Amino acid sequence: MTIKTCTNGHTFEKTSSCPVCPICSREEMQKKYGDEFPKLAAPALRALDRIGITKLSQLTKYSEKELLALHGFGPSSLTPLRHALRQKGLTFKT
Ligand SMILES: [Zn+2]
Repeated sequence: MTIKTCTNGHTFEKTSSCPVCPICSREEMQKKYGDEFPKLAAPALRALDRIGITKLSQLTKYSEKELLALHGFGPSSLTPLRHALRQKGLTFKT
């Protein structure tokens, strides 16, 4: 394990699966997705970002299984999304 300091002065553990500063990354993701994807952890937001999802409604093109296959996207991320989709009358792809 390596301790790194980012350009904004945060110290963090650098791992091979997550080489970016988690604090900067979380701030960046929340600025971009905060209102659209409430309660979602930064790794899950990054996973969605990587496949080009920026809106909740785009999730209807993906099944829960497909999302769980993304790096950083765990089962705990599905629950708030499923809830948010349901409130808009939407569901994951089945
Ligand atoms: Zn940072």
